[in-house]
This record gives sequence, structure tokens and C-alpha cells, in this order.
Amino acid sequence: MDYDLFIIGTGTAGTSAASICSKGGMKVAIADYRSLGGTCALRGCAPKKVLVGSATLYEHLRRMTRRGVFPEGPTLSWKGLMAFKRRFIDPFPAIRAEEYRRMGVDVCSGVVSFIDKNTARVGDRTFTSKKFLIASGSAPRALNIPGEEHMVTSEGFMDLDDLPGSIVFVGGGYISFEFAHLAALAGSKVTILHKGGRPLANFEKDLVSRLLKVTAKLGIDVVLNAEVTSIEKKGDSYVTVADARGIRSPYVSDCVVHGAGRVPEIDALDLGRAGVDHTQRGVRVNGFLQSVSNPDIYAAGDAVEGTYMLKPVSENEGFVAGRNILEGNVVKVDHDVVPSVLFTVPEIASVGRSESELKSGGEDYDVVENDMSDWFSTRYLGMDNAYSKVLKRKSDGRILGAHIMSPRAGEIINLFTLAIRCGMDSETLKTVPWAFPTNTSDMPRLV
Ligand SMILES: Cc1cc2nc3c(=O)[nH]c(=O)nc-3n(C[C@H](O)[C@H](O)[C@H](O)COP(=O)(O)OP(=O)(O)OC[C@H]3O[C@@H](n4cnc5c(N)ncnc54)[C@H](O)[C@@H]3O)c2cc1C
Repeated sequence: MDYDLFIIGTGTAGTSAASICSKGGMKVAIADYRSLGGTCALRGCAPKKVLVGSATLYEHLRRMTRRGVFPEGPTLSWKGLMAFKRRFIDPFPAIRAEEYRRMGVDVCSGVVSFIDKNTARVGDRTFTSKKFLIASGSAPRALNIPGEEHMVTSEGFMDLDDLPGSIVFVGGGYISFEFAHLAALAGSKVTILHKGGRPLANFEKDLVSRLLKVTAKLGIDVVLNAEVTSIEKKGDSYVTVADARGIRSPYVSDCVVHGAGRVPEIDALDLGRAGVDHTQRGVRVNGFLQSVSNPDIYAAGDAVEGTYMLKPVSENEGFVAGRNILEGNVVKVDHDVVPSVLFTVPEIASVGRSESELKSGGEDYDVVENDMSDWFSTRYLGMDNAYSKVLKRKSDGRILGAHIMSPRAGEIINLFTLAIRCGMDSETLKTVPWAFPTNTSDMPRLV
């Protein structure tokens, strides 16, 4: 055999596994058909946070302009933002290559497909390996509508040299909302077309309805129950047709962005030849992240059926799969408490159970709900809209879920993640001497 382990994908999942298995003495290769580094670092979380972070700062300054910070308002330059983002992101593939060199991991360039259970093709070369890890990530979902090729993906959006004057986002998920806030703050006229009645379905309903109000204030038009049926290019513009309960309406814009979900990128792999059971939702695995049909093949990250498509989850799965490959199924994957943050302005964030989950599960719970709009922690930032809902077990006050909208929601939710994972109750959280004045010093009132 050429290798002990052959990894498909140089993203977070593949790299975590490469690190653990090469340290453990395995002979490892890793392959990718794109630049080394994967989605999070090159096309996802990192470039997005650089752009959204600057937009958030701009919005903060704009709010504070009326409160004595700047005599004249700040401006947001899309070109300047792009240049700043590229300085951050462009060096990354070379840094990754150097990491692999130090780990002693061989790098192969090209599209990988299986020939049989222990052999893969990369371009015109073939490799044999005792084990494989499928860490091939995800890609935008095909919509199968006429004109879908006119849509710009999230990756394309984050690389536009100029901000379009008007943008239609197809789909009401996290990509659309985060980019819509960014684009609106940068001066674009933005519309979000969402097929169902409830956008951002993974977040608590009360959080989303508050965010929709803030979104409307930013001038973003969110159209619900609007299923996009076609996109047509007319001169320099695009006409996106959406069917809202039988009424077809055209939306004309300078750019149309795909925000309609992502699916595992597994089609090119020819998984049937390796005997790997899978569905459109990804590779089917057991609790050790081992293929349910071929014990020599593992999967981790966005390529796994039914996983959370999030960076910390793919990283953790890479480590879990890596340890199981190295030591022989010693650790199971645990996704019991996974926080999600929506990087809008302000952020919304959730962890643990939602109220509807607790209701349907028959759990006896208390709700601590706060409109934090006039709290010090909101007002000193010049904001006027913040909210929290914390759910705790009635019998012992144990925290079961937290749902926050605040300029610092992403940081606050990490504390709740820790509290839920460690089984903490509200009394414990109330008695911590939280450093003041910080946004987390609100904790005693939140629980
Ligand atoms: C716009 C955007 C914003 C995001 N923001 C966040 C965020 O704020 N927080 C968060 O937690 N998560 C975020 N995510 C999700 C996060 O980026 C992913 O969950 C994570 O990067 C998945 O890592 P992975 O290792 O599973 O796959 P990836 O990082 O996608 O790596 C897979 C690699 O496999 C390669 N590949 C695929 N097929 C083949 C093949 N046949 N042959 C060779 N190579 C192949 C691909 O080229 C890719 O480089 C975001 C995603 C997007 C798109």
C-alpha cells in the first residue's frame, strides 16, 4: 500500500485528521482540487468575518457619530474592504502547505475519485491506502431552475471587485442574511427571496422575528413564501422571477446571490466503487465516523450525513475520525451542545434546546425572557435593540437553552455553551463575580 491514510479535502476536518494521524506515526497523504485550506479559511468563516467585522465597526461608528465620536460620518469602501480581506486570506494556502510539510504529509493536487475499496485516482495517478478519510466538504445546492448559472455563489460574492447597486439573495438562510446586512451597510439595495414562511429556521422564532425588524430598518426587503422559478439576464441586469402563492413577480437587480443552502460535495468521488453507503445528505457513518458499509473508510465535516455544517464541528469530527483511524474506534462523536451564531448587525446566537423542542419533549421548564434594549450593555454601544430568552429546567434550574440577540451575542453564547455542557444551573451562574462593565456581566439577569 502507498499510504496508511489518504485524506480527501484540505479543509478543517481533513487537516485535523492529518495532524493527529501523522503525529501518531502513520504515512499520510492529503488531496484537494482547489487551493489548500478548505472553505472556512478561504471561502467561508474567515473572509466573511473580516468583511462583516469591518461592516459592524462601521455601523458602530455611524451610530456613535450622533453621540460625539466623529464630527463627520465614517464611510465604508467595498474596494478597501476587499483589499484588506485579500491580504488576510491570500497567504493562507502557502501557510497550509508549510504545515503539511512540517507534519510530513504528502500533498496531491487534483479531483479524487475511487477506483475500488482501497484505490483512488487523482488526475492520471492512482494511490492505494489502508484507510481513507472523506473530508470533501460541501458546495452550493443545485436549484435546477432555468438561469441558475447567473447566480453568484457566496465565494463569488466575497470576491466582487465592486459592490453591485442592487442584489437579490435567493434563500433565507444564514449566508443570505449575513451578506445582506453587509451589502446594505455598504450601500446596496437588497432583497431576500425565501421559499418558506420562516427564514433562519434553525434559530428560535422570537429571535428571528426581532432580527427581521432590524433587517427591515436597514432597508432590506425580505419576501417570504417566494419560490424562485427562473433567473434571466437582460442587458446588464438580472430578472429573478419568484412565485409567491401563485403570483409571479419579477425582481430586477445588478446581481443575484445563491444563499439557498449547501449540500455535501461527494458526487465526483464515485463512492459506489468503494462500497460507501451515502445519500444526497452525505456519507452514512456510525458514531465513530466510520462508513456503515466499508470499515476502511471514515468521513468527517460537511461531507457527513446529517452533521452540523460548522467549522468547530468539522474540526472536532476530524480529530475524532483521526483518533479512531489511528487507535481503532476509541471515541464517539458528540454533537449534543453546538452553538450557532448569525453574524448580522446585531448578531443573533443560539445554543441548546429551543422552546418548541422542550414543549414537544414534555420537559418542565422555566423561561427567563428579557428585552435588553434599554440595558446599559446595549445603550453604551449606541444600540437600541437586544433580547434574550433562556430556558431552564423547572426542578433544578439547570440551563437547557439560550437564545440571544445583542451586539456581543456570539461571545455570550459561548459561555452558555460551557454552562450547558457542564450541567450548570442558574444559581451558579448568578453567583459568579462577572467582571464589570462587560456584556457578560449581564449574566445574573439573563438566567
Ligand atoms: C460563506 C460561508 C460562511 C461560513 N461561515 C461560518 C461561520 O461563521 N462559522 C462556522 O462555524 N462555519 C461557517 N461556515 C461553514 C464552515 O466553513 C464549514 O462547515 C467547514 O469549513 C467545513 O469544513 P470541511 O473540512 O468539512 O470541508 P471544506 O473546508 O469545505 O474542505 C473540503 C475540501 O475538499 C475538497 N474536495 C471536495 N471534493 C473533492 C474531490 N473529489 N477531490 C479532491 N478534493 C475535493 C474541496 O476543494 C475543499 O477544499 C461557513 C461556510 C460558508 C460557505
